[in-house]
Amino acid sequence: MKAPILIRILVLSIVIQFTACNSTKQSLGSTSKKPKRIIFLIGDGMGLSQISTLFLQKDNTNNFKRFKTIGFINTSSGSHKITDSAAGATAFACGKKTYNGAIGVDIDTNASVNLIEKFSEKDYVTGLIATSSITHATPACFYAHTKHRRNEFDIAKQLLLSDVDFFAGGGRDFLREMNAEMQLYNWNIDTSNTQNWESITFNPEHKYGYLLSGKGMTTMVNGRGDFLYNATNASLRYLDKRKSFMMIEGSQIDWGGHANDYEYVFTEMEDFDKTVGAVLDYAEKDGNTLVVVTADHETGGLALRPASYQDADGISHNDYDAVEGSFNTGGHTAALIPVFAYGPGASEFQGFYENTEIFNKFLKLLK
Ligand SMILES: [Zn+2]
Repeated sequence: MKAPILIRILVLSIVIQFTACNSTKQSLGSTSKKPKRIIFLIGDGMGLSQISTLFLQKDNTNNFKRFKTIGFINTSSGSHKITDSAAGATAFACGKKTYNGAIGVDIDTNASVNLIEKFSEKDYVTGLIATSSITHATPACFYAHTKHRRNEFDIAKQLLLSDVDFFAGGGRDFLREMNAEMQLYNWNIDTSNTQNWESITFNPEHKYGYLLSGKGMTTMVNGRGDFLYNATNASLRYLDKRKSFMMIEGSQIDWGGHANDYEYVFTEMEDFDKTVGAVLDYAEKDGNTLVVVTADHETGGLALRPASYQDADGISHNDYDAVEGSFNTGGHTAALIPVFAYGPGASEFQGFYENTEIFNKFLKLLK
């Protein structure tokens, strides 16, 4: 016997409301859902002023504007108030405050388990991209354990024996004469400098390494082109549909800061921003990808100050319509660093916390 029409309408409307509720929850998604893929982008040496150059010069079309979830980290190291990239990346990769120069070891030089080891244990595909040598301090902390960042030959060997599945960057000089390790772990290593990234087809069972310069990659000013953007898009094709963890570094924002060269900093920021955009586009379509963007520290003490001019009487004035970059130091600074997050789990990254918490937050999302 059929239920009376009123009851049938009531039941139907409850079902519709329940479904609507559920789909709203899913589309908001970022609070309770756990990500299947994590893409962690580090702008080495990228403080708020470096990010502000994009707002000044890119007419507000930059990709940082797309983030709604923002936090701040304190970046001091275990040995100094001001960190270097090695201690900064060890904090992210291993969750430990260590001494400046340490690669994946704690303050007593003991090896400390890193995110790639943790994620690989759970069958995640892992990868690293950098515009420095892939053996440089920041990427190295995600796969190597050694007392000092200078040990780049040792670091290179550890890369080939590590759980990393995909890497791209410079550093060919440090991986020479390691054919045995390459073959042992079935690496496909490509050292040609003319990458046609779009045409590469990946076998998900294989490991891929791209070493496109002897040490660090060339600068944007000197014609690096879209290496970071293209390698990132290629890595997204490689990891697509699989559980994965990627670390992508805009390494040379830091080098521009050390050189106190505004043009160098800005062009490296533009390159990093374009890459952040590619990752956000992927994450928006995918819906299961967490994107976190931050820096290990600020470099150069960059200030965006007003240009000055002299009037007819020789008195100096500030021109608040003309901004110029001015640097305070050739080194790093102690400024708090912003963290931007998008996707499932993003809300974890709000608030003020220590740089080591980044490690704990990623692990919490893995569980
Ligand atoms: Zn530096």
